[in-house]
Amino acid sequence: MPDPIVIATWPFGKVAAEAALKSLANGDPALDAAIAGAQAVEDDYSCRTSVGFGSLPDRLGRLTLDACVMDGKTLACGAVAGVEHIKHPVALARRVMDRTTHVLLVGEAAKWFALQQGFPLEVPYTSDAIKEWLEKHPDLKQRPGANPPAPCDGASEINIDADHHDTVTVLTRDAKGSLGGACTTSGLAYKLPGRVGDSPIIGAGLYADDLAGAAGGTGVGEEIIRIAGSSYVVELMRGGRSPQEACVRACERVNASAGRRGVHPARVAFLALDPKGNVGAACTAKTNFQYAVGRGGKVELVQAKEIAAGM
Ligand code: ASP
Repeated sequence: MPDPIVIATWPFGKVAAEAALKSLANGDPALDAAIAGAQAVEDDYSCRTSVGFGSLPDRLGRLTLDACVMDGKTLACGAVAGVEHIKHPVALARRVMDRTTHVLLVGEAAKWFALQQGFPLEVPYTSDAIKEWLEKHPDLKQRPGANPPAPCDGASEINIDADHHDTVTVLTRDAKGSLGGACTTSGLAYKLPGRVGDSPIIGAGLYADDLAGAAGGTGVGEEIIRIAGSSYVVELMRGGRSPQEACVRACERVNASAGRRGVHPARVAFLALDPKGNVGAACTAKTNFQYAVGRGGKVELVQAKEIAAGM
């Protein structure tokens, strides 16, 4: 019988991996376990500022969340993007998968669907997140009320550093050998209102197929979308590459795409799990990506290899 495995992005992925391992140990299917892991991070305000309630909001001070889920056995998937006031967007993404014929619902309409499904509307802000937004907002030089926030014209650069994004992406293999994935994030802090990154886009932030493998991405989502990142990693595994090789190749592709535009590669990371239970991860330069690996009842953090441009 295959042993249950979970991998999850970033040090807070430990929280996810522990919850997902527990769920797998109870005999839950891979997708349920991945969602349990993602939801544990949505619930833990102390471990992150970029997933779920209490995260850093967009330029207008609104916190909008993105999430998706995918079942490797059936290729069933669901996603929500730009959704406000819903504490567990990953659970809502699951409802989209289970209760609609669609894959992705966005914004107000996703919230309407959540209400229909019995999700409560809740207050997503914490005083710490609002304080940081007021202090570090890239445009908001005045005190609140003195002037409206600067125009959202996309012209000024959004300040993206290690503290201003990170997604939890959880990949699992259950005791039957099936794969599942879940991904949840608030995206980039101070993003333009309406901006959606890779995380809720099936094939970009997440992909899972029992016949090939599961993969997820984190980092600057625009670069992951540009190369259809998670789908690319999975297709490389389908072609015989190991999860590690596939993640390295995806990072090389991110580097090459930046080269074609004459810009520095953004910070991006990929992680992958194949049907045999092999895992791998890689990141672009200066990403300092760690991911949690859980198996045999234990969870450990592993440092991913950095792939510098030009290699
Ligand atoms: N990929 C996420 C986004 O672009 C952010 C992150 O994972 O760091 O929204």
